[in-house]
Amino acid sequence: MTEAASVFCAKLLDSLSLDAFVFLDLKNIRYCCDFTGSDGVYIFNPDKDWFLCDSRYQEQARQQVSVSEQVCYQNKFDSLTATLKKQGFKRVGFEADTLTVAQLQELTRRSEKLLEWVPVGAQVRALRGVKSVAEIACLQQAADLNAAAYTQIEGLIKPGVSEKTIALELEFALRRLGGEDRAFDIIVASGTRGALPHGVATERLLAAGELVTIDFGTRVSGYHSDDTLTLGLGDVADDLRRIFDIVLEAQSLALQKAAPGVVLADLDAIAREYIGSAGYGEYFGHGLGHGVGLDIHEYPTVSARGLDPLQAGMVITIEPGIYLPGRGGVRIEDTVVITEEGCRRLTRIPKKYRALG
Ligand code: ZN
Ligand code: ZN
Repeated sequence: MTEAASVFCAKLLDSLSLDAFVFLDLKNIRYCCDFTGSDGVYIFNPDKDWFLCDSRYQEQARQQVSVSEQVCYQNKFDSLTATLKKQGFKRVGFEADTLTVAQLQELTRRSEKLLEWVPVGAQVRALRGVKSVAEIACLQQAADLNAAAYTQIEGLIKPGVSEKTIALELEFALRRLGGEDRAFDIIVASGTRGALPHGVATERLLAAGELVTIDFGTRVSGYHSDDTLTLGLGDVADDLRRIFDIVLEAQSLALQKAAPGVVLADLDAIAREYIGSAGYGEYFGHGLGHGVGLDIHEYPTVSARGLDPLQAGMVITIEPGIYLPGRGGVRIEDTVVITEEGCRRLTRIPKKYRALG
């Protein structure tokens, strides 16, 4: 476990008077103890920690995980409750976002009133919020792969080519260059489909006079990239060109403002107010951005509901958009790391207006 993770978890236990914290979220487990398999439990206590898994992962855990004690189980919840009871622990925290109601009932039944299960939501979400130098290096590599893959396929983007062809070629390029997988279903939304913020690629053919929005990413050592660009195809009508310029300016204002201490909601407001003042406020429905790391969407959420301040080392996206039903849409997205002075882009694809084909 890294020093930062250990300090975070010790403070969490202290502030909630917990004897231990049980992690079942696989990304949190990977973050805390380097295990990359698909099932297991990590238990944290400042004096001792445990990793529990079944026989499928015993050898992998021996190679990856360094904890005070490893346990191989037949039944996960039997082993978990037995381990906690053996230590005499009473109050145990768990991730409220991860455990299902049925699982909690199961744990409660096996606890025989000896353990009190305490759900923890917002406080544990911040665990992976500030990235280490090593994590930022992986995020940078993933962003570099986005740029390299895009360069390889840009020549394909022209009228007559299907959205799906672009998505497939991008995915092949990302994988060929060393990306672990696509970060999510690649979005290629052309023409009127551009009004769908999450318009996954279809058989639709690109046509001259339209905009096309491409949103994609990959992973390096588990860490994601996330980039969105909107391009013109041939001569594009003035109203569409205008919403492009508004979104680009809104994004640029937010990029200039992003710095330690800025409250997430205030960053969101910079872009939202600009788009609103241009008359398109009702067409920008989603939040300005999100944290990126082992999950493609993670803490912090950059939206009107975000009350936390930005901190140096956070990695977030800034992705305003305007979506006009029946007409088309624009989204422009960069992934940035918050630095002591402001922010630095990790994504490298230029976002200024360009017309292809
Ligand atoms: Zn995206
Ligand atoms: Zn995004």
